[in-house]
Amino acid sequence: MTLVSEQSGATPFIPLCVPEFRGNEWSYVKACLDTGWVSSVGSYVDRFEAAMAARIGARRAVATVNGTSALHVALRVAGVETDDEVVVSTLTFIAPANAVRYCGAWPVFMDAEPKFWQMDMAKLAAFLAEGCSFSGGVLRNRTTGRLVKALLPVHILGHPVDMDPLLELARRYQLAVVEDASEALGATYKGRPVGSHGDIAAFSFNGNKIITTGGGGMITTNNEAWANKAKYLTTQAKDDPLEYCHHEIGYNYRLTNLAAALGVAQLEELDEYVAVKRRIAQRYIEALGEVSGLTCMAEAPWAESTSWMFTVRLDAAVFGMSSRALLQHLQQQGIQTRPLWEPMHLSKSQTGAMAWQMGVADELYADCLSLPCSVGLTEVQQERVITALRAATKTDRKV
Ligand SMILES: *Cc1c(COP(=O)(O)O)cnc(C)c1O
Repeated sequence: MTLVSEQSGATPFIPLCVPEFRGNEWSYVKACLDTGWVSSVGSYVDRFEAAMAARIGARRAVATVNGTSALHVALRVAGVETDDEVVVSTLTFIAPANAVRYCGAWPVFMDAEPKFWQMDMAKLAAFLAEGCSFSGGVLRNRTTGRLVKALLPVHILGHPVDMDPLLELARRYQLAVVEDASEALGATYKGRPVGSHGDIAAFSFNGNKIITTGGGGMITTNNEAWANKAKYLTTQAKDDPLEYCHHEIGYNYRLTNLAAALGVAQLEELDEYVAVKRRIAQRYIEALGEVSGLTCMAEAPWAESTSWMFTVRLDAAVFGMSSRALLQHLQQQGIQTRPLWEPMHLSKSQTGAMAWQMGVADELYADCLSLPCSVGLTEVQQERVITALRAATKTDRKV
């Protein structure tokens, strides 16, 4: 799909979000090759873990092969077991929902709020109070009869979830908090890094994330025992340093030293990337803020977003085009955009999971479109996107 536009000549293709390598990536990867330390043991794995722990302000960090495996193991060490339930944002990339299922547990999907599009705290409070019964320190879902063990807020599109009310609910109902910070590395909530608020957090370094290792992930936590258990589970649960003895089923979820070398170099660039992403978002907001039928993603007063994936919401009737029609329209001009994820409660893959008071996520799914926002996006390219968007409006009334 994108290749056709790329090769069509006349108008150069503007991709949605591609990685940027302009720091120490080459030299660190070369060091791996020169020394032969390319696999899952090596100094860059240790360095990357230490740098991530420092960045998040967590006592420990454990590298993993991707963000999905980080979530899986984070849930395991947080005590999520077969037939337990975990409350998960319904408006998310599918990884956290799948990770819950890998544990044999079930997600309970929670709606998004309409302002910042993150997990709705009022609906969460209502579910815990009215949808569950709480006695003897045990929270039971009245509908399914299953035990609710954890909350899994997903900080989507680079913007933090409202964590204080969530943490208050977690304390009241004795629930573990597993943050999915995959899309929000570098963001802060009330001045503190996203990923440092819950009991444990997962990050992703997939190719489209704000920094990338090709593929990779990280678990961060202040809980030493959980971190040790995470390291153990991600390295095949080997019980003896010498002998190949295993007392549990483990996983091969290790990150290679080659990937970690990329990670160390990319993390050095993170502050700069966040600053660039925020500038791109600001330019979009200034240029598109007055367009009828179009709303730019907003930043909460308590948040510093990374604007990882800059997204707009369309009112199709006013704008004169649906989000999917606009996607096609921009694609024809060599501009790549993408829709949000099908909400988890609509996903066939999640049949059997419960959803609580849906509504907002469905609308956001229908109305939203993410715009080109690579760190390397030039002003000329962004101007082309803006011009194309303004030209697509029905009446051009306010612009
Ligand atoms: C990218 C992402 C992940 C992890 O994805 P991996 O490709 O496994 O690294 C998890 N959750 C969310 C919300 C994501 O966007």
